[in-house]
Amino acid sequence: MNTQCTPRQTGGLFSRRSLLRAAALSLPLAPLVAAAGRSHARAAVPTGDETFYKWDRIADGVFAATTRYADENNVVGGNCVLLVHGDGCVLIDTMQAVLGGSLRREASLTAGAAITHVFNSHHHFDHAGGNHAFTADCTVAAHPRCAQRLARDFRNLIAQIDARVETLSQMEGEAAAKATADARAFKEGLASMKPTAFTPTSLIEKDTTFTFGTHELRTEHVGAGHTDNDIFYFLPRSNVLVTGDLVFNRWHPFFDASANATSAGWLNSLRRMRAVCNNDTVVIPGHGAPGTPAIIDDQIAYFERLRSAAAEAIAAGTPREAFVKTRIAEHADFRLAMAAGLALGGVYDEIRKEKAEP
Ligand SMILES: [Zn+2]
Repeated sequence: MNTQCTPRQTGGLFSRRSLLRAAALSLPLAPLVAAAGRSHARAAVPTGDETFYKWDRIADGVFAATTRYADENNVVGGNCVLLVHGDGCVLIDTMQAVLGGSLRREASLTAGAAITHVFNSHHHFDHAGGNHAFTADCTVAAHPRCAQRLARDFRNLIAQIDARVETLSQMEGEAAAKATADARAFKEGLASMKPTAFTPTSLIEKDTTFTFGTHELRTEHVGAGHTDNDIFYFLPRSNVLVTGDLVFNRWHPFFDASANATSAGWLNSLRRMRAVCNNDTVVIPGHGAPGTPAIIDDQIAYFERLRSAAAEAIAAGTPREAFVKTRIAEHADFRLAMAAGLALGGVYDEIRKEKAEP
């Protein structure tokens, strides 16, 4: 950590005074997003089709980068958040590996400053894959198990590269062409790249508060939920919560049993995040549009619905193969349809295990 980043330890609970101050300073989401052209004092915010990502100003010095594309193949990756401070900027999450270079280019352009620090919400390749563009000269911080899993899964990550570059090359527009050129340059350099190029350089061993200029960035790990290395990030002064994949807004959540996902743990994290929010908190999910704390409530309702459906199915003797094919009416228009059965199966296994080991 350099002098621009001053970590200090904090307890797990945020003080009431902090929450009240955050509420007092917060502004409604819609006017700020609508005012994206009125940039932060140091920022030259690109607009329109010249950027591959959609960069929305969420609060003073806080931007969210989301995809402009339908992206059902998840070639772009999860949302990421940019904090601009006095002498540099900070990125939370780095999207897919093929897009690390273009993300860095556009983040620096948006901030009008160099990136000094990067944080990962968890190890999945659509959130930490782009780390390689930052590890050489930035601090890249994450949960210790995020680093372990990225190192372990390096070969799987590399195996996806060709298909992702190909999908990227089929996207239309000048910004996509630039991103494709960045992706091809990354692919050409892969042969000489070591697995450690993707590995975080700094481990967040316990809940911590970092200070970057006027921003406070609080990290919290509740336990295994979406994965066993989830960290959510709260900016009390801006009243912005960055959830990583603990929230999918109107997408089916990706249930990764191989990374120790559990719906019970996921609900614990969701309830903790909800307790951090007040009515004005802007919530940036891992996938889907930014919103109000209601998107956390919706994710809680999703898992409660799956858990009750799984319990009923098990009590009725419905086999797993049949249960994973059921579709819940209120989730019918959710994106990432391929993840629906995975979540049903994961929760079915979990409830069956809970019943066997009460
Ligand atoms: Zn994920």
